[in-house]
Amino acid sequence: MASRKRSTPRRRPRRTGRFVWGLLQLLLVVVGVLVVAVYVSRFLPPASQEKRQQATIVPPQREPARRAGANSKPSAPAQEQAAATVQEPQNVPLTSGGSGDALPTSASLAVTSKEVDAGSSSAKLVALTFDAGSSAEPVPQILRALAQRGLHCTFFLTGEWIERYPDAARQIAEAGHELGNHSWSHPAFTSLTDEQIREQLRRTEEIALRVCGRSTKPLFRPPFGARDERVRSVAADEGYLTIYWTIDSWDSVKKDITPQMITDRVMRLMRPGAIVLMHCGSEATAQALPQVLNALDAQGYRVVTVSELLRSR
Ligand SMILES: [Zn+2]
Repeated sequence: MASRKRSTPRRRPRRTGRFVWGLLQLLLVVVGVLVVAVYVSRFLPPASQEKRQQATIVPPQREPARRAGANSKPSAPAQEQAAATVQEPQNVPLTSGGSGDALPTSASLAVTSKEVDAGSSSAKLVALTFDAGSSAEPVPQILRALAQRGLHCTFFLTGEWIERYPDAARQIAEAGHELGNHSWSHPAFTSLTDEQIREQLRRTEEIALRVCGRSTKPLFRPPFGARDERVRSVAADEGYLTIYWTIDSWDSVKKDITPQMITDRVMRLMRPGAIVLMHCGSEATAQALPQVLNALDAQGYRVVTVSELLRSR
């Protein structure tokens, strides 16, 4: 009896030891597999839209454009490396999505009542923005110019415009562009009550969801650029960050402006992190767009949505 009792505890440590060793080996294998999986998922992301974007936006000879790094997702190893060497923050914005897969890109932006009129000046990124309140005729031409280069921009739509041109609004959304709120009927918000401001924003959000299947949150462009602390606070309370601009293309303020004048003005004022104000209703802008995009490309700028621009900060 006594000897048996003694032998059992003696054998146990050996078995336990073997068991622990086996467990450790298993653990090592699991960790190894995980490391490989993480590596593969970082460097070989699924890539239909990556390819398209890379091919069109990032010409291989343009170092600065590549450094801008925060392309929608880290894609090819080369790009990843370029980003890594300049220590770009890895806050990898989502793409605005290709046609169909409409990703709300701006979900993670912090909404405050602070005014935003530019992104970081540390990378050669630029956000072209298109306000829609008048005509929709130039829209197909604008969308074509962007699609040819695989670019996504931000479109600030009024609710009335969506109501009047539902097809154009849908085309913008389906092409994967980012939507922002430009009020319902384009009044100067500084002359509205808090409640009227809320109403303007809510009605537009509602119709955007209904017609485009997309939210306009959290981007708000004040009509006429009319804003103050109160307007921004109410907008923030409704879930919107107020987006002003760095460069006004003058396509809505200057009569008889030509495409060349727009290109010259925009490129003369261009700087890293710029938000450019343009209009969906401007024929001159639609015609200038290919030139502007070529000029930006030649100078190593990469065109992104407003939320991508702001997240690169
Ligand atoms: Zn406007």
